[in-house]
Amino acid sequence: MTESFDILVAGGSIAGLAFASEAAARGASVLVAEEHEEIGEPEKCDGLVSMRGLIRYGYPPDPEVVQNKISSAVIHSPSGRHFAVNASALDVVVLDRSAFDKQAAARAASNGAVVRTGCRVGRPVRKGSAVEAAVGDVEVKAKLYVDATGPASSPRQGILPAAKYEIEGNWIKEHVVEVFLDAAKYPGFFAWVIPYGKNRAKVGAAGHGVSPFKALDSFLDGKDYSVIRKVSAPIYVGGPAPSFTVGGHVLVGESAGQVKPTTAGGIMTSIAGAVAAAKWACESVRKGDYSLLGRYQREWESAFLKEMKTMLRLRSAFENMSNSDLDSVFSAVATPKLVMKLSQTDFDFHASALLGALGVTGLLRVAKVVASAELRSLLMEG
Ligand SMILES: Cc1cc2nc3c(=O)[nH]c(=O)nc-3n(C[C@H](O)[C@H](O)[C@H](O)COP(=O)(O)OP(=O)(O)OC[C@H]3O[C@@H](n4cnc5c(N)ncnc54)[C@H](O)[C@@H]3O)c2cc1C
Repeated sequence: MTESFDILVAGGSIAGLAFASEAAARGASVLVAEEHEEIGEPEKCDGLVSMRGLIRYGYPPDPEVVQNKISSAVIHSPSGRHFAVNASALDVVVLDRSAFDKQAAARAASNGAVVRTGCRVGRPVRKGSAVEAAVGDVEVKAKLYVDATGPASSPRQGILPAAKYEIEGNWIKEHVVEVFLDAAKYPGFFAWVIPYGKNRAKVGAAGHGVSPFKALDSFLDGKDYSVIRKVSAPIYVGGPAPSFTVGGHVLVGESAGQVKPTTAGGIMTSIAGAVAAAKWACESVRKGDYSLLGRYQREWESAFLKEMKTMLRLRSAFENMSNSDLDSVFSAVATPKLVMKLSQTDFDFHASALLGALGVTGLLRVAKVVASAELRSLLMEG
């Protein structure tokens, strides 16, 4: 049996569901297929996101999906220095990510999309102007194929192994996100604590070439805690894909690399991608003119490319820093003035905000304290 739709979406997580929802609202017939039996499960993501970003793209979470509101972020240096940024004005929340995806699935279905779970989508094959793929046991024919399968299809470079536990412990600060930098333990990334309720947190560790579970166990060593659940999931920090359409197929969300290279946060940027992609995909299908798909990428890039490039530049500098560089940078820049400026910025554009807050004087101060000349020029680039 063959079923026909205007658009077939592979992957029923936030990007695929937001795409399906928007495309169905625009009148397209859409099937979104998720390989797991339950939307949102197994839950990998920590759900740290700015409410402002979600509202900007029309995806405010239902109140019961919000687990916590963050009041400050504390960044720790390798030698134990730290600085705290007041985040109360940044409107950062922690979502129950599984519940958020279920909310998106309900919205897609109420807009008319068909949401199917427990169905793996096979490799799509182009046949003339149509595309065909196996969706579970059924053959599906569509005018357009959308790949929202996440890290499986992200460009390989830029994937870091990560481990995450949900834990209970009485040392967890209820509204404070903590980030621990250490170039030896978490090369190219960090360990994190994201509280999601009283005495509860999502904690994680990631880094190039590390065993993330060992890194996380050693981070937690000496702390009193009990594990609620453990997850292993790669994070992506490689920046946007060069093209959001490949072989006539559309990539959205993490498949398209729509993820912040600094923090691996991708909820808001993936929703933004899905919303823009749905608009231009529907126009393309309606007019039979698939050259219009290029406008999706232009629209997403006009909002995010500058920031993503700045994030990649900061990442590159960060990856080149030793622990002593990191400590020196902390002493050079963690001034009350900088911390105050950071508390008044936009969480989703934190790289530009950081460079703006540092200014030329601050950057010169940073460049002075790092050891390598290559790193100094990276910092002063642009
Ligand atoms: C440990 C961890 C913590 C994170 N924390 C945060 C955070 O705090 N804040 C934030 O903004 N972002 C965070 N992220 C990133 C965020 O989860 C992703 O950027 C976001 O989920 C991307 O959404 P997506 O829909 O593109 O891909 P995914 O969420 O990866 O979803 C892809 C979906 O496709 C399905 N799939 C794959 N192949 C097929 C197939 N062939 N057929 C059918 N279905 C298929 C998968 O089962 C999955 O459901 C985190 C990621 C990880 C791993």
